Amino acid sequence: MVGLKFCKFRKSLILIIISFFIVSCSDEVAQTEESLERKNYSWRLVTTWPKNYPGVGLGPENFAQLVEEMTDGRLKIKVYGNGELIPALEVFDTVSRGTVEMGHGAAYYWIGKLPAAQFFTTLPFGLNAQERNAWLYFGGGIELWEKAYEPFNLIPMAGGNTGVQMGGWFNKEINSLEDLKGIRIRMPGLAGEVFSRAGGEAVLMPGSEIFTNLQTGVIDAAEWIGPYNDLTFGFHQVAKYYYYPGWQEPGAMTEFIFNKEAFDELPDDIKAIVRTAARAVNQNMLDEYTARNNKALISLIEDHNVILKRFPDEVLEELEKISKEVLQEFVANDDFAKEIYQSILEFKKGVSNYHKISEQAIYDLR
Ligand code: CA
Repeated sequence: MVGLKFCKFRKSLILIIISFFIVSCSDEVAQTEESLERKNYSWRLVTTWPKNYPGVGLGPENFAQLVEEMTDGRLKIKVYGNGELIPALEVFDTVSRGTVEMGHGAAYYWIGKLPAAQFFTTLPFGLNAQERNAWLYFGGGIELWEKAYEPFNLIPMAGGNTGVQMGGWFNKEINSLEDLKGIRIRMPGLAGEVFSRAGGEAVLMPGSEIFTNLQTGVIDAAEWIGPYNDLTFGFHQVAKYYYYPGWQEPGAMTEFIFNKEAFDELPDDIKAIVRTAARAVNQNMLDEYTARNNKALISLIEDHNVILKRFPDEVLEELEKISKEVLQEFVANDDFAKEIYQSILEFKKGVSNYHKISEQAIYDLR
């Protein structure tokens, strides 16, 4: 009996040992396959913002960190600020050529190359951040954007929104339309054209050049973003009046752009991580602005004696009228631009009607 039991025990022991070897070996094989499959990617990301700039500039930094964590280091992205590798306004071309894999900026900087790009940042008197995200993800916006960037070998994704911006910094009061005449202002995109047609003169320059140009009188006025960012650039030291509302940018969306070949080369799981991280950053930036703008505005007024002013109705009404004209002319000879504009207009109409009895009704009540 004892011999039989021992025999059974020995058999079981041998089976356990064999199983152990099989499991170990298959584990080893799996690990070897995994390490063979594990390919690491090292990317460069150029931006139109100063390095580590609050709000818009932290979008790409947060994105790089999220992607590295979520991919367990398989995709590492080094972020370069404006001027570190290339000047701000060369981001689009540099990523399009594939010199670097990706970029972060604002689409309306590229209207000289692609007029329809304007529609993928903001429009004067257009959608706010909440509405823009809704149009993008549920109103056909992203499909139109991808189509617009395809000829440039680029894949776009939303990269954060500033929310409603401020109207800008001036050194003289704007009490009538007459007061806009001759004002040289930093204002990008179609809004700049609107301002020029209203009697001023709009110029485009990256944010980092605004302070010096205001100080030396190269420009008389400037719009940048809002209190949180404008405070960090110190515009209150060189301009006295801070105007609202930001008719020119009622919710500016920033963008991630990816070189198509670089993106296509990624395995599916990393592609999904990249898309998810971009979406997270897009929401996170808006949350940051919402939390910080109001505090920065209080500091500008109370600590720096900035004079806060609202544009007169007469001025806003005229700017809105000119905006419609400029936009209609802008799309008149460009069927694709017209298609995008129509899509935004229709979406805005529908969502505005509902927001009047939801968002706006609550704002009016509380
Ligand atoms: Ca702006």
